[in-house]
Amino acid sequence: MRLDVVTIFPEYLEPLNVSLVGKARARGRLDVRIHDLREWTHDKHNTVDDTPYGGGPGMVMKPEPWGEALDAVIESGTGDDKPVIVVPTPSGRPFTQALAVELSEKPWLVFTPARYEGIDRRVIEEYGDRADVREVSIGDYVLAGGEAPVLVMVEAIARLLPGVLGNAESHRDDSFAPGAMADLLEGPVYTKPPEWRGRGIPDVLLSGHHGKIARWRRDEAFRRTVANRPDLIERADPAVFDKKDREM
Ligand code: SAM
Repeated sequence: MRLDVVTIFPEYLEPLNVSLVGKARARGRLDVRIHDLREWTHDKHNTVDDTPYGGGPGMVMKPEPWGEALDAVIESGTGDDKPVIVVPTPSGRPFTQALAVELSEKPWLVFTPARYEGIDRRVIEEYGDRADVREVSIGDYVLAGGEAPVLVMVEAIARLLPGVLGNAESHRDDSFAPGAMADLLEGPVYTKPPEWRGRGIPDVLLSGHHGKIARWRRDEAFRRTVANRPDLIERADPAVFDKKDREM
């Protein structure tokens, strides 16, 4: 998978060199290209922002550098491939595990983290024809810039790529994962030692009985979801719940 990021803070993306994403790059699973937006400015101050039309506080990112940058990135693609352009913005659609799965299946993503009050709207309209443009929010809060959201999204996407996680099964039981965990949060997890500060672990986990362990995990996932995210239960397709869930 190819990932391009256009930013005024290339150094903010340095965490993409470490841990899981760094290893995926080293193994050739991810081709990450970071671009400095200011390379596409032409004045001596490398200006990327200007005052908003209509007045008001803050600055807006100018369309010209973004246009030149995105043209250059898109033209560097081979053949007819169209990227998905991911525009981080608090006013976008929520970034969910389902969207992470969808994006992990695309060959090429271009991220456009903004600063100030965001990017001139015409840029988002302009690329609608030449790419699949997605405005995406990582949560209902406002950060100073889109670089941290890019780090969040890239990590969520990269760990889904085949061969990136040591154990391909690891994300199968994650919270929100399609399949067994659909619409549920993952329950508690334990490791050795069997007793720590007087606290043991649930007997069922030592039973070796796979069916009972699976049932216990399912029940704990259900309990945790009811306690922490009742909205997920309310929104869920009733078909994902079994008889035991309904009795709890
Ligand atoms: N005025 C904008 C608004 O209220 O929607 C907020 C702009 S914010 C200060 C600057 C940039 O940070 C955004 O354009 C976006 O790139 C990024 N950003 C901030 N919060 C975000 C979030 N929750 N999800 C995704 N990107 C975010």
